[in-house]
Amino acid sequence: MGSASHQLHLFFFPFMAPGHMIPMIDMAKLFAMRGCKSTLIATPYDKSTFMKSIVKFKDLGFDINVVTVTLPLKEVGLPEDRDNMNRVTSMEMRMQFMRAITMLDQQLELLIEKLAPDCLISDMFLPWTIEVAAKCGIPRLVFHGTSAFSVAGTECVRLYEPHKKVSSDSEPFVIPNFPGEITLSRMQLQDFVKVETEFTKFMDEVKESEKRSFGVVMNSFYELEPAFADHYRTFLGRRSWLIGPLSLCNKDIEDKAHRGKQASIDQLECLQWLDSRQTNSVIYICFGSMANFNAAQLHEIAVGLEASGQQFIWVVQKDPNMEEGKEEWLPDGYEPRIRNKGLIIRGWAPQVLILDHEAVGGFVTHCGWNSTLEAVTAGVPVVTWPIAAEQFYNEKFVTQVLKIGFDIGVKKWARSFGDSVKSERVEEAVKRVLVGEEAEEMRRRAKALAEMARGAVEEGGSSWSDLGALLRELRMQRSAHNEEI
Ligand code: UDP
Repeated sequence: MGSASHQLHLFFFPFMAPGHMIPMIDMAKLFAMRGCKSTLIATPYDKSTFMKSIVKFKDLGFDINVVTVTLPLKEVGLPEDRDNMNRVTSMEMRMQFMRAITMLDQQLELLIEKLAPDCLISDMFLPWTIEVAAKCGIPRLVFHGTSAFSVAGTECVRLYEPHKKVSSDSEPFVIPNFPGEITLSRMQLQDFVKVETEFTKFMDEVKESEKRSFGVVMNSFYELEPAFADHYRTFLGRRSWLIGPLSLCNKDIEDKAHRGKQASIDQLECLQWLDSRQTNSVIYICFGSMANFNAAQLHEIAVGLEASGQQFIWVVQKDPNMEEGKEEWLPDGYEPRIRNKGLIIRGWAPQVLILDHEAVGGFVTHCGWNSTLEAVTAGVPVVTWPIAAEQFYNEKFVTQVLKIGFDIGVKKWARSFGDSVKSERVEEAVKRVLVGEEAEEMRRRAKALAEMARGAVEEGGSSWSDLGALLRELRMQRSAHNEEI
């Protein structure tokens, strides 16, 4: 047999939301760089974004491709252009969207039959893919898109229900059977954990499907969270491979700039702006791809940033409900006044490019895991402003375990936008993370972690080795399967 026939072929099936797609695309590149054939699954609308991210890798000769599946949006009552979580606004639409995704099973099966991959790596939000993989006789790996800390922490809360043993929403509890005396409150837990909903049942399915899968791949690295990675493996009994930080497979400016959507600023203009600033003098503020603040909150941020007197890059998502060109949140004469100090990016920023620039000295983040890990990888301390999903867990990890940041004081989980934060607190936090001894101390710790992150993905590093071990297991699995048939 020629060497090509020994090449492992993997399918990568992300959930359709930027925070899930971006690391999965990076993962597909990483596997291709380790000699595998990588096939990404996208919807037609997102295909061009995927292609932009991988085109250079293809040109370099790596075996990476994109195939499409079409969401039955009409069947569930959604307009044709809503084929990404990022483009569905209401809760009702989200449920319709989730329903449409579960109807992709036959399309996935046909693709597997046609292209014969050896393994399927699919997002945690696609639990039904375990059935398709099993039917087609290939292993399925789950991608959670978050840390071992958060996956194991949420699982311990789900299993042991500490939130049912406190007397109020604000009373702190320690996560039981979990390393490190980590405290949370009921207010910080996702709705579906507190009240039984459709989504609670769905998350139970996610967990069941995880248990039946071949294992779990994580965008993290062992040195970042050894106690939690071990806990997940031994106490909770999940086979897992930590193979990140995945964003590090993007080496040059082009690669870093073309992650996710088309950036709303020219990458060179952005770099020029940063080049003209001193080291660690700029704060970067961005709340990921999903959060949409209202005008009042944006106004508070604007006022706080100006009052801090610090330089900043602030990413403001375009709110689909806000009238085009009408920016009532912007104080009068704001942009001319801050021209030399601040840059507002409306839409999508080349985030990794910005964080990796030495002028950036702090990051106000909503604690999405990708953003959190990107901050770690860049060695940048953070101000945590969690909103939804598992972001409060990530906040605890950053503030209580890694100690590379502090919280801005948000107390309540919300689906899209929770506690409001006043300008004074923004002003104080921005100054505190950029200047002074505490800032230096956090930065020193963050830089040490950044070095570990780079070491982990280098040849012989922990993530490099974990990926190697996974590839060996998958090859063995394939041989065993081939012998059987
Ligand atoms: N991102 C970006 N530009 C933006 C906003 C987000 O490149 O303007 C990227 C960011 O680098 C990260 C991802 O989008 O990789 C967001 O993922 P995260 O888990 O942080 O948050 P989510 O969007 O899932 O809430």
